[in-house]
Amino acid sequence: MTAVVDTRPLRHWLHSANSPHLVICCGEHPDPATWSRAVCTAVCTGGPGDAGDAGVSGSGQAVVQLSTCLGALTPAVLLELVAGGASGVTVALDGCANPVDTEAVVNRAGTFVSALGRPQHINVAKVLPTERKHGAAWPILGETAVPVSRRTLFGRPDGLDLAEPSEHPTQRLAAVLRELVGGDRSGTELDHVPTGIPRLLATRCAGSGVCARTCPGDALIVTRIVLAEASSDQDAIAQFHLAFDPARCTGCGQCLEICPESALEQSGEHVWSSLMAQERVDLRAGLTRRCARCGVGHGRSGDLCAVCAFRAANPFGSTMPPGAPHGVDRGRQPGR
Ligand code: SF4
Repeated sequence: MTAVVDTRPLRHWLHSANSPHLVICCGEHPDPATWSRAVCTAVCTGGPGDAGDAGVSGSGQAVVQLSTCLGALTPAVLLELVAGGASGVTVALDGCANPVDTEAVVNRAGTFVSALGRPQHINVAKVLPTERKHGAAWPILGETAVPVSRRTLFGRPDGLDLAEPSEHPTQRLAAVLRELVGGDRSGTELDHVPTGIPRLLATRCAGSGVCARTCPGDALIVTRIVLAEASSDQDAIAQFHLAFDPARCTGCGQCLEICPESALEQSGEHVWSSLMAQERVDLRAGLTRRCARCGVGHGRSGDLCAVCAFRAANPFGSTMPPGAPHGVDRGRQPGR
């Protein structure tokens, strides 16, 4: 599991700094000190040999060495640094073993900055700039080891109250976008930026809850209220409710694949203004009963869910039921 970058220490430092431009180095960068002497001035176009952009508009520069690799960077991390007061962020890719993924993250963060009309640049530098700083080198900070202000040193709060970052990537991104958009604005200027978060429909949902158990982000929430018990618990009839929290969704699509009834469908994508509004979406409510064989909820007539009904009808069958999850390795079926 990739470590999550917590920008709060850096943001406390930025709060009392004078809008520096930050150069982010990998935790395994052999010599961040080379960047502490470099002055980023050229605008990076991403082409080979570019010296990297700083667009330095604040007071100088600082080098930040992560405690992990650049693969831990997300658009939210970079935007949090901008929201914290950095005049720009350059991610140093010199020597990086996998620059393509990091560049995609940086480009995505840059898309938000330009859509919001912010003056900051977020970009990459593939090689060390040739221009060198005269005099003292720029400071080199650790991701969590930053100099404390005199105010903090004497135990006084610096006026920043930063919430712990969400462990859900979309939720964290929505939170920093709310901060950058500011005030009561809805953020509709971001609606043309793709979210990758599906707008789900569940018109055929029978409340089995398989999607909710599969969802890695706990974005699907099933609640059940048992209304009546028949001869045994297996026959219990319940009122179910399926809700979707798009800000917790990562867009992995597993829920769409896994439903044994193929009850979930995608109808386009959510837009950023709805993700930033933190609206939970009611997908479906109805009656469900427990499968007499496996115990999952289902909305069919009869005692068995779709999978168990298929198995009962095909006791010696070797094919998967219709709507079974994809990903079955058919190449391993006997005789193939
Ligand atoms: S797309 Fe993935 S993260 Fe989103 S609701 Fe479905 S399973 Fe959960």
